[in-house]
Amino acid sequence: MRIPIIAGNWKMHKTTQEARELARKIKAGAGEVSHCQVVLAPPFTALSTVASEIKGSKLILGSQNVHWEPKGAFTGEISAPMLEEIGCRVTIVGHSERRQHFGETDETVNRRVKAILQSASLQAIVCIGETLAQRESGIYHQIITQQLAGDLDGLTRQDLLRIILAYEPVWAIGTGRTASPETAQEVHEAIRSWLSQKFGNEAAQTVRVLYGGSVKPDNIDHLMRQPDIDGALVGGACLEADSFLRIIHFKA
Ligand code: PEP
Repeated sequence: MRIPIIAGNWKMHKTTQEARELARKIKAGAGEVSHCQVVLAPPFTALSTVASEIKGSKLILGSQNVHWEPKGAFTGEISAPMLEEIGCRVTIVGHSERRQHFGETDETVNRRVKAILQSASLQAIVCIGETLAQRESGIYHQIITQQLAGDLDGLTRQDLLRIILAYEPVWAIGTGRTASPETAQEVHEAIRSWLSQKFGNEAAQTVRVLYGGSVKPDNIDHLMRQPDIDGALVGGACLEADSFLRIIHFKA
């Protein structure tokens, strides 16, 4: 059985004070949930604050990126050992905003994934998804397959146990235009089938595949009823405690 994950990607939002307040409210409303795992991924500056705020609860601390080297002359970057030390257990990599604005490629995503696997305790949320033009021209399956092959290149079956995938169609992120549950399910099923061919069916059945793209309180339940949707990566709706809590308490 795959335990669902609801992960909040706070992006570049929340000062440390605001982060403290939001984490406190989420902890009060979701701290002991057991039907799903809940990840909070605040900006780097708020990691430490959120770590102390959620201490003792079941909430999991996540980061929004990681560099592939453990240390060195990489101005502005943060390494896996630094994240582990602060209490992170999950790291988002390959988010479409990083691909679009910061030149992230499948090759650099793959290097980050390997750095995560080298760490003692981090898991990766690897984001993939097609643009609107790619969807409309009918090549989205090819794009997804290409991203999976590049991002997971060189990984073993064992490595896969520490990988969480997030299918995030770019046209649905921050646009209010969510993929219908059936549209998302079709891609999730294709992702699992690709994983099965590459890593074997048993491994493919253990990987959690999250959906991301304008997930809101009013669409989460229907999304979570799809057999291959194992949770959500939530952007805008995770910035207010009430909406995020409603998403966490989805009714599948
Ligand atoms: C995201 O940033 O991963 C995301 C899915 O954003 P939103 O929920 O705002 O579309």
